Amino acid sequence: MIALQRYVAAGADALRDLAWPRRCSGCGYRGTWLCDACLDATPVWTPPWCKRCGVPKEFGCHCHELSPAIYGARALGRHVEWIQRGVHLLKYRDEMARAECFGPLLAVAIADLQRPDLIVPVPLHPNRELERGYNQATLIAGAISRAAGLPVIEPRTVVRSLDTPHQTGLAAHERQKNLVGAFAVTKPEAIAGKHVLVVDDVLTSGATSAEIGRALRRAGAVRVDIVTVSRAINLKPTTR
Ligand SMILES: [Zn+2]
Ligand SMILES: [Zn+2]
Repeated sequence: MIALQRYVAAGADALRDLAWPRRCSGCGYRGTWLCDACLDATPVWTPPWCKRCGVPKEFGCHCHELSPAIYGARALGRHVEWIQRGVHLLKYRDEMARAECFGPLLAVAIADLQRPDLIVPVPLHPNRELERGYNQATLIAGAISRAAGLPVIEPRTVVRSLDTPHQTGLAAHERQKNLVGAFAVTKPEAIAGKHVLVVDDVLTSGATSAEIGRALRRAGAVRVDIVTVSRAINLKPTTR
């Protein structure tokens, strides 16, 4: 039985590699999701970082961008180079298997946070998920779950009830306004008393994490952290 499962899993891996041949998101090198040279050129963030916002000291503390509903945040790095391109390929180019590359890296990024009880991927509105065919946050959450041994919440426990317009290009306060009441918890008993880790692809203005954080806290979560592959951080000219 186990041999058969391995056989099926190996077949699935082979099919996956056929559909999405691995290539480095930084330079396009074949056979790997990320090559050593690109990782060396843009390394993932490591401590010392701000214990709350997870941003390394060299980029300054960004706690002011986090909602009071969010306890701590972690990310692999800024939304640049192989990280940015990797998110893009996962999100818009159907490279669903690429999430596996981020799982182990994100498991390391969250290692200094208190271990959460469960992982909650930021849900897409059903219309958006139908359009894309998958939710990239769910794929990333699954990869973290396998790498860190953490359970993912049952599907549809947290839902996106509002089909919000595309947020790109909107100011932070406009994003926030659009998202008010966007998330709902259908089974608060699954959240109550729990320490929850929210998973998303990019943390931009913090509006999404604030809104889902509030919904989870209202449902009784004792603590909400967020982990994203990247963080959009604009460097002020003086810090370059
Ligand atoms: Zn590369
Ligand atoms: Zn900070």
